[in-house]
Amino acid sequence: MKPILVVNSGSSSLKYQLIDMVTEEVLAHGLLERVSDHGVAFAQMLKEIAAGEPRLEGISPVAVGHRVVHGGTAFSQATVVTDQVLTQIHELASLAPLHNPGNLAGIEAAIAAFPDVPHVAVFDTAFHQSLAPASYTYAIDTAVASKHHIRRYGFHGTSHSYVASRTAEFLGRDLADLKIIVLHLGNGASACAIDCGRSIETSMGMTPLEGLVMGSRSGDLDPAILMYLSRVADYTPDQLDLLLNRESGLVGLTGLNDMRDVSLAATAGDPRSTLALEIYAHRIRHYVGAYFALLGGLDAVVFTAGVGENSADVRARVIVPLAHLGLTLDESRNAVSGGGARKISGEGAAVSVLVIPTNEELEIARQLLDVLEA
Ligand code: ADP
Repeated sequence: MKPILVVNSGSSSLKYQLIDMVTEEVLAHGLLERVSDHGVAFAQMLKEIAAGEPRLEGISPVAVGHRVVHGGTAFSQATVVTDQVLTQIHELASLAPLHNPGNLAGIEAAIAAFPDVPHVAVFDTAFHQSLAPASYTYAIDTAVASKHHIRRYGFHGTSHSYVASRTAEFLGRDLADLKIIVLHLGNGASACAIDCGRSIETSMGMTPLEGLVMGSRSGDLDPAILMYLSRVADYTPDQLDLLLNRESGLVGLTGLNDMRDVSLAATAGDPRSTLALEIYAHRIRHYVGAYFALLGGLDAVVFTAGVGENSADVRARVIVPLAHLGLTLDESRNAVSGGGARKISGEGAAVSVLVIPTNEELEIARQLLDVLEA
């Protein structure tokens, strides 16, 4: 057995998986919520693991992998945690105040619990460090941008990278020969254009707010709306943050933030939900077209994460109107729910349309081993 513990520690939650990397079998997994002390949560996690299965009592991971949201420009790959790395993650907290402090608290608790094994940080931003300057630079005063580290970083990189590799495997092709658009549609959502296994463009930006319509985030909008609201309605920065990150997207449009509820309401004839679904799919099609152009060709469009893996309705709303781009949908394949990686495009289509379940924990464990065994 080669047990690797993968930890996704938020400000008030702790998600974990213990994976045997000899077989890639998940030995234990869980989610602790309302966490106020990460050290206490770690002790609770160890109790849960031992109680869940007798054979795991006393088991100790040979290494711990940590999800870290923001790696800035400092981290373009998974990195063994040292004191210096901890300091850097701490410094990056100004770019990701909602995420990095919770990630850091989890790493510190894990080091206290497992002081003798290597800890590896895997960054959501790392996969997108391959973006060219023309993709990551915002067209604002370069002095202001540089002083405040303003640029596109992109997120969901662990998922995009995993799904791209699985796509190559599924198609029996070499990743280096493929042009892929991955649509990660969960509560948060982002699109990524991947050429030869490298991210060349992605829809999330300096923060996870930009791009697609999400559960409670607006995605793209005219930034002048923020100045306008602050002038005409005295919105403060915190209120704008709340409006755009928590009260927009599906929840802002419909009052519902779960795609299942929005779909049900639309089917029942609610016009707001129908419009929300149209906006959601329209925005995705906008990005698919743009990324097709940037990639200069296209082998596969891949749906992943909660909505992408489960909503046949959303997939149909995205793909059916794109027949002119060579995208087709086999209705009966699209309607099948559950299962692993599958093709949903029609027979002989120029571009494969796939559903590939993401697995960020496994990808973190694999990247950890790559780093430790390099
Ligand atoms: P997170 O970004 O929190 O990791 P997930 O990838 O788990 O999110 O996606 C969560 C979202 O997936 C939920 O908000 C829900 O709207 C959506 N979802 C899950 N199952 C279905 C389904 N059967 N049909 C439509 N949407 C679904």
